[in-house]
Amino acid sequence: MRLSKMHINTLREVPGEAEVASHIWLLRAGMIRKLVSGVYGFMPLGYRTLRKLEQIVREEMDAAGAQEIHMSAIQPAELWIESGRWAAMGPEMWRIKDRHGRDFCLGPTHEEVFTDIVRNEVSSYRQLPMNLYQIQMKYRDEARPRFGLMRSREFIMKDAYSFDRDAAGLDESYRVMYEAYRRIFDRCGLDYVVVDADSGAMGGSGSQEFTALAEAGESDILHCGCGFAATSEQAPGVDAPASREDLLPREEVYTPDCKTIESVAAFLGIPKERTMKALLFEVLGEDGNPVEYVAAFVRGDRTLNETKLYNALGVPEHRIRFADEAAMGARTGSVGGFTGPVGLRDCRVVADSELPGLRNLCAGALREGYHMKNVNYGRDFEADLIVDLKLAGGGDPCPLCGSPLAEGRGIEVGQLFKLGTKYSGSMSARYRDENQEEHPVVMGSYGIGVTRTMAAVVEQYHDGDGILWPMALAPYQVIVCPVKSGDETAARLAEEIYTQLLAAGAEVLLDDRDERPGVKFKDADMIGIPLRITVGKRAGEGVVEYKPRNEREREEIPAEEAVRRALEAVFGK
Ligand code: ATP
Ligand code: MG
Repeated sequence: MRLSKMHINTLREVPGEAEVASHIWLLRAGMIRKLVSGVYGFMPLGYRTLRKLEQIVREEMDAAGAQEIHMSAIQPAELWIESGRWAAMGPEMWRIKDRHGRDFCLGPTHEEVFTDIVRNEVSSYRQLPMNLYQIQMKYRDEARPRFGLMRSREFIMKDAYSFDRDAAGLDESYRVMYEAYRRIFDRCGLDYVVVDADSGAMGGSGSQEFTALAEAGESDILHCGCGFAATSEQAPGVDAPASREDLLPREEVYTPDCKTIESVAAFLGIPKERTMKALLFEVLGEDGNPVEYVAAFVRGDRTLNETKLYNALGVPEHRIRFADEAAMGARTGSVGGFTGPVGLRDCRVVADSELPGLRNLCAGALREGYHMKNVNYGRDFEADLIVDLKLAGGGDPCPLCGSPLAEGRGIEVGQLFKLGTKYSGSMSARYRDENQEEHPVVMGSYGIGVTRTMAAVVEQYHDGDGILWPMALAPYQVIVCPVKSGDETAARLAEEIYTQLLAAGAEVLLDDRDERPGVKFKDADMIGIPLRITVGKRAGEGVVEYKPRNEREREEIPAEEAVRRALEAVFGK
């Protein structure tokens, strides 16, 4: 492609809204353009890279035996009502109505649609196992669309769904997808970890996330040398060892103005580990009004993992929030800053799993200005639910080996779920076995954020001058730059090199624009073409400059040698 004929528009300035490298460089290199918040379009260079990424995904999915189909992004509400998710999905779901007032959504994911396809198409065990996938637009009206392609409201996802006869079949389908994911992200050149994940609103059990390591990522990752890795959302907390102390008599103490764990621990001269912290929530009904109060208790120095609490309660995130203290107090006896478990009424009490093992903790006394010392589980209070509520963090013991966990950040680029019969059960997707007995199909679902992966690659492959695309994803592999404009010899040699590379099957740009060398080099660096061949003052001797984007040094070598080296780099030796 000749740059003089191509639409390319690199930006000198950093666009105001862009904070992270991938957003900045994809905009500056002219690869993407914003339409409105969280909605982007792909320009010629960006679209080429996007299609290469899609092609890698497609090749590996096909090789893994999955079959590509294409479903509509528009989905009727009926399917979501059947699965129970029409009500469970929050404002992220983009709901629309047709002219008759019928409800639809723009698909945030396609479990329902694929389950519907399979219940209509599959009836016998002979048709299983089956894995169907698509590469298609998804819509999520994110609360905070940001970072360009990383968290957008319209994005491309590869979503695959496996259908098996039984759990053993699902295990195998899942394993095959896991291997395919490794190959996909390896081919993209990503540095990633695979973490155990929260299966959240998807339901089912067994889920992993592929997470590209990057500071700009939104996932907090905990990992350990022993191989353990998990999102901090999902990492199991490790209970403190049970205490052997004798139970001491309960005692109310005056703690004026001590509304925080820090202040009460300081006032009483005790470590925070000897206190208990209350977090108060209200569960909302359909109409948005509170229908139930929840008091969650963790040891004073711990942080509550809200996801674990919501999952334990079985309440979707948008139906629960921090309680209005006055309203909750009137009904349950809680007192802001002084809430403890003893004497609390008319609310659900959830205790962290280590609390029953601990002794003589200090908790709020349900009375303004007072705490209660020597509170003990069993003797003084009980809980409706006892579950792990702890948010794990760096330095906490690894749940597998006990060594301190390391902390990092990452970008979730893909996720695998074992769904089991969650959807096939509620939506009646069944097959008949050899004996004509009916069973629900056993499902898995597997997503890859294709556009987010493109951003993740830029997060890992950029420098101060722009993007450094890995060869597999570069919009073009080589750029040939004649730099003495008006110089016939240089122009002719550049043209020759360009033609030879093209004939050999390489994807090549010829920067034949009438621009200064500085402008050409800046653009080539910004858009991240892996190899640059510069044809300049030694063109008459047949000598050119060869420079890979990821190396500092440029080499002066004969043109034929440059062509040979470029082809080697593009196609491998
Ligand atoms: P997140 O936790 O980041 O919101 P998710 O877990 O809700 O993502 P999934 O339902 O697992 O997302 O979707 C599959 C993949 O789609 C994700 O692994 C991610 O790569 C991608 N993805 C999800 N939401 C977005 C978004 N708003 N913009 C771009 N890609 C996204
Ligand atoms: Mg996910």
